[in-house]
Amino acid sequence: MSNGNASKTSEPPKAAQITNFIRNIIDADLAAGKYASRTWSGTPGPALMQAKAAIDPAKIRTRFPPEPNGYLHYGHTKSVLLNFGLADDYAGVCHLRFDDTNPEKEDQEYVDSIIDSVHWLGGNYDKNGASHLYFASDYFDYFYAFAEMLIEHGLAYVDSQSAEEMRATRGSLTEPGKNSPFRDRSVADNLQLFREMRDGKHADGTHILRTKIDMASPNINMRDPAIYRIKHAHHHRTGDKWCIYPMYTYAHPVEDALENITHSICTLEFEDQRPFYDWVLAKLAEFGALNTPLPQQIEFSRLNLTYIVLSKRYLRQLVEQHYVDGWDDPRMPTLVGARRRGFTAAGFKLFAQRIGVSKSDSWIEMSVLEDCQREVLNEECLRKVAVLNPLKLIIDNYPAGQTEECFAPNHPQKPELGKRAMPFSKEMWIEREDFEETPPKGFFRLFPGNMVRLRYGFVIKCIGADKDAAGNITAVHCEYSADSKSGTPGSDTYKVKGNIHWLSATHAVQAEVRLFDRLFSAPHPDRGTDNFLDDLNPKSKQVITAYLEPSLSDVAAEARFQFERHGYFVADRLDSKPGNPVFNRAVTLRDSWAAGS
Ligand code: ATP
Ligand code: MG
Repeated sequence: MSNGNASKTSEPPKAAQITNFIRNIIDADLAAGKYASRTWSGTPGPALMQAKAAIDPAKIRTRFPPEPNGYLHYGHTKSVLLNFGLADDYAGVCHLRFDDTNPEKEDQEYVDSIIDSVHWLGGNYDKNGASHLYFASDYFDYFYAFAEMLIEHGLAYVDSQSAEEMRATRGSLTEPGKNSPFRDRSVADNLQLFREMRDGKHADGTHILRTKIDMASPNINMRDPAIYRIKHAHHHRTGDKWCIYPMYTYAHPVEDALENITHSICTLEFEDQRPFYDWVLAKLAEFGALNTPLPQQIEFSRLNLTYIVLSKRYLRQLVEQHYVDGWDDPRMPTLVGARRRGFTAAGFKLFAQRIGVSKSDSWIEMSVLEDCQREVLNEECLRKVAVLNPLKLIIDNYPAGQTEECFAPNHPQKPELGKRAMPFSKEMWIEREDFEETPPKGFFRLFPGNMVRLRYGFVIKCIGADKDAAGNITAVHCEYSADSKSGTPGSDTYKVKGNIHWLSATHAVQAEVRLFDRLFSAPHPDRGTDNFLDDLNPKSKQVITAYLEPSLSDVAAEARFQFERHGYFVADRLDSKPGNPVFNRAVTLRDSWAAGS
């Protein structure tokens, strides 16, 4: 009797494809035939490999280039969906490329998780009969050979200054830098030293390979930026083969060019690096190393969301200091967390469409993401009943031992999904909040003397309540009207203001339910306080034992439902077992954080 989702693959509600400045660039490039004669051998490589190959079947090539040093977070979804989305829309290909040139913090665990999350988001890098999954570490020989090429052309030198000396001679925004005393080393000396660096003859930090551009450039990033450093570190894929590693700003353009990327889309903080990106590629193309036309870098503004932190440093701190239960804690803004929480990939797609792409930095309200998740969940989720804070209700005039069926719609907006039977009997569970001994003004639910409808069932009249010695309400008593059953002739002659949900106590199943709320209670947790941890929401996780309707006892992991009045819930993908369900709340039915509520 497993109950899945109404539709597991439901697409986000349709939104017209809105154009943006990146689409405009691609449209113009395609119209001008900029990449029309570009060739592609089928594998990443230098000009030698690509030049004589056939025309690239991909109209454009984009890439998503994560560094495998952590889990993907909400911010990454913007980049994943943008890059894979553009490739899909323009008959192109998006590569998943691991930018694994920085050995110390990288690990296979992160590679596996990122692949999983990209698939979950619908990113497809298998196109034109090939899998476009690449690792920058597979290009180490190219980075090295191209660095020697720059040395041979007098465009790179080994600098033996200390890091402090280099910092001190870099200059500032207003002052030019000073040339290194090692800047005029001969090509032969530079080659010899660079090879010694590669062969492990020098300690970390003793030498560095720099490009020779202009120490007086108004752009500090063009003042002889470093491209290779010594690092005696074990790499998770290449082991101990290398003890020198390329710098990101040098490796990245080369990776793009080797992979025939046309549009290299990155976040705004790389804007100042674009001149160096272009410089590296132009020089290497001039020396015949790279296929042309060359990739172009395009920057867009990163996603900033309120009530959460997205920086890997902060996320790691939350995990390592046990403020959360791991990277996949449903409160974490990671994709593994989002999935456990019951968020959907379709919800992230809707969100990405709604926020769009631009060059202006801004903060997006968390409620926008939550609303998108809600919209998708509302579409796809079957309705169920759960009582989260149970109070016993006894129908005094209902025969003991009798059970009958009431019928509840599976989805009020989709009558074609039918109804399900809910057992009705003498003893019920209702929500404690649905009874008040002395009702406040405007309270229409149960109080002595008042009538309400047990939703999809009978109309009842409250006649009193039992209390324990401490005065706590232990049970509510009522009488039902036998001719008021929903859906039977005449039942609508009963006019009541209250309508509450219920579960037959003898049939309901007990289950662990986890109620999640925002992890931080301040919109900008890392601002205005010395410590972002001060803004943690102490009530972000609550674990309760709830009662569920019997049809929920045996559901598949990750099945999602709306629990009427309570929100959207998912069967925990790790802990929920057939016969022993565990549910996580993804999001409430309405935004409880909105001003004034
Ligand atoms: P963090 O700053 O959290 O460490 P990162 O940028 O270092 O993240 P990478 O693995 O290098 O993480 O990122 C992979 C890709 O995702 C990059 O192209 C990066 O621009 C993009 N990206 C990362 N964070 C965001 C964000 N908040 N919004 C949009 N794109 C992002
Ligand atoms: Mg980064």
